Amino acid sequence: MTEFDKQRILVTGGAGFLGSHLCERLIEDGNDVICLDNFFTGSKTNIRHLLNNDKFELLRHDVTFPIYLEVDKIYNLACPASPVHYQKNPVQTTKTSVQGAINMLGLAKRVGARIFQASTSEVYGDPEVHPQHENYWGKVNPIGPRSCYDEGKRCAETLFFSYNRMFDLEIKVARIFNTYGPKMHPNDGRVVSNFIVQALKGNPITIYGNGEQTRSFCYVSDLIQGFLDLMDKSNNFVGPLNLGNPNEFKISELAEKIRSLIGTKTKIIFKKIPIDDPQQRKPDISLAKSLIDWKPSTDIEDGLKMTIDYFDAVLAAK
Ligand code: NAD
Ligand code: UDP
Repeated sequence: MTEFDKQRILVTGGAGFLGSHLCERLIEDGNDVICLDNFFTGSKTNIRHLLNNDKFELLRHDVTFPIYLEVDKIYNLACPASPVHYQKNPVQTTKTSVQGAINMLGLAKRVGARIFQASTSEVYGDPEVHPQHENYWGKVNPIGPRSCYDEGKRCAETLFFSYNRMFDLEIKVARIFNTYGPKMHPNDGRVVSNFIVQALKGNPITIYGNGEQTRSFCYVSDLIQGFLDLMDKSNNFVGPLNLGNPNEFKISELAEKIRSLIGTKTKIIFKKIPIDDPQQRKPDISLAKSLIDWKPSTDIEDGLKMTIDYFDAVLAAK
């Protein structure tokens, strides 16, 4: 690749869990990356190893404010993803999703960039259809504690499709299902990081509710490959596209798996289930398979082992 064919790519939320993996992969592939983040949930540790790379540039900025940059592609990931974090300041969460989308779409329109939106399985809410296919419109409580995120992300999808219809903007909307792996924040509050950190510290594992609710967990490198394939290999397809691993588990099964992989007898305790916690979630990924020939390849046990090793090193360094 010569200096002149290089792509300049903006990653918003680039210091977060998914964003930092994406920045790393885009640089490996020879691109110039601008990582934009306000460090609400992201961390410099995630991108420290990239700071001296001349293909990488870091901007501290909040997507709710406009910004003028010259780029070829945008991946819009800025938004807290853990229920604990997105409920901390629900007004800011909705603003980040909606005003952030408006600003990034405006930027994409001005420079003619293709733009990717990190949407979510939460647009399906507490689904009545199982597994969830892209045609399902969802069952979301518009006024509950999760609505700041769910409705913010739904509105962002609306904005993306409106910009596509009105201005022919090249959009790519991915609906991401639960993803895990190294670089999740140890206090992130999501289930995989919580259970692993609790078990490694010998603290009780906290199951919310009776543990019968299900999720389907995708390893981070599989997901990032899906981002790139959707962005670069899907021709005129604009989305939405489910990206996730259809391997469905009860939360109680996940707790057992993590206990046995770590080899601990740490006890399991049950806490109140959060309001509007979805009961069942599993992606139908037939569209991703047929459209971009994408499916996850990392087995849950291998993915969990790599994640456990990561948290083990993080806790040892403290
Ligand atoms: P994360 O919290 O680790 O990363 C989000 C990043 O966005 C952080 O670095 C944070 O500091 C930054 N950010 C938040 N508000 C911002 C703002 N106003 N301006 C600039 N930066 C801001 O979460 P993640 O898991 O990496 O998720 C990334 C994206 O993927 C999010 O949009 C999330 O909704 C979406 N997503 C993730 C999952 C998952 O399982 N990880 C599932 C569905 C959707
Ligand atoms: N959960 C749990 N214990 C925890 C954290 C989460 O039992 O310490 C449950 C949570 O109630 C939900 C599932 O695990 O049913 C996934 O939660 P997470 O916050 O990871 O993401 P969600 O899919 O709900 O956005």
